[in-house]
Amino acid sequence: MSQACDLQPAFKNIGDHTFEEFIEMATLFHNYPAPGLLIGGYMVEEARKHMPEGTLYEAISETTWCLPDAIQMLTPCTIGNGWMNVLNLGRYAMSLYDKHTGEGVRVWLDIHKIPKDSEILVWLMKEKPKQEQDSEKLRREIGGYGADILSTTPITIPKPKLIKRSKGKVTPCSSCGEPYPSAHGALCRACQGESPYAGHTTLSMPSNIVFPVPEELKTVPANTALGKNAVHDMTSILPGTSKGAAFKRGDTFGAGDLCRLQQMGKNNVYVTDAEVGNDWVHEDDCANAFATAMCGTGVSTKGEPHEGKVTLIAELDG
Ligand SMILES: [Zn+2]
Repeated sequence: MSQACDLQPAFKNIGDHTFEEFIEMATLFHNYPAPGLLIGGYMVEEARKHMPEGTLYEAISETTWCLPDAIQMLTPCTIGNGWMNVLNLGRYAMSLYDKHTGEGVRVWLDIHKIPKDSEILVWLMKEKPKQEQDSEKLRREIGGYGADILSTTPITIPKPKLIKRSKGKVTPCSSCGEPYPSAHGALCRACQGESPYAGHTTLSMPSNIVFPVPEELKTVPANTALGKNAVHDMTSILPGTSKGAAFKRGDTFGAGDLCRLQQMGKNNVYVTDAEVGNDWVHEDDCANAFATAMCGTGVSTKGEPHEGKVTLIAELDG
């Protein structure tokens, strides 16, 4: 008695690999041979065919699902080496492009080429819950159609987008202390609120900062401040004439200054007998620290801070 034998469809190769080999590779890399990864194998090989021999290329995946793994399995482009950009455009498409010229090819799963009664369409359009899909039929169709359900078109990546990623300057985060690229802002992105961890607050003050104001800081009547030092800059405003620092931190109040202080409306001044050391932060340094925290793309400081103030300017119109 002879057994009826289904005519096996001829599965198309994925580059140098048979479909069966690629299923094994996919299982090793991805834990299971997901349909999207198998189709992805054909997509990557189709794209590679369009790249001239010897081209150094980079990749874009337009979906976060499965396809990035096909690119990592079959090309030198990985997320880690920065030669692949995974976008969450939600389209089942990818591209390869020359990393110097930006010229390349985009490959997509073309709904117009997928037969209407196919399991691939059921899978792609989620016409049935996953448990009800015929995964055997789906796999046979994927291997049978191969690249026949894909389309390609030339693409160009604009020159500014070809600029290599760079960390730039690295600096320790003033909150968590861990080094991060200073282009991210005054704090690392985790400390700016992007940490994925529950209750992850690393905010810690450097131990040399005393808060609140140290006890040894006293306010005394101006006429008793003779011989003491100013602990902060003091602004003198002559309406319509001038506005500037009449006293700088560290200036010693002399006999002639007492009258000047009173003219400035300063009947009391801050003084201290303590050493003005590292525990003290000059208001201009505070202004600078705030300015650094507040600046970002398109906003920068203008000039040096004075009297605890710093000017922020917009670098762009609009
Ligand atoms: Zn941090």
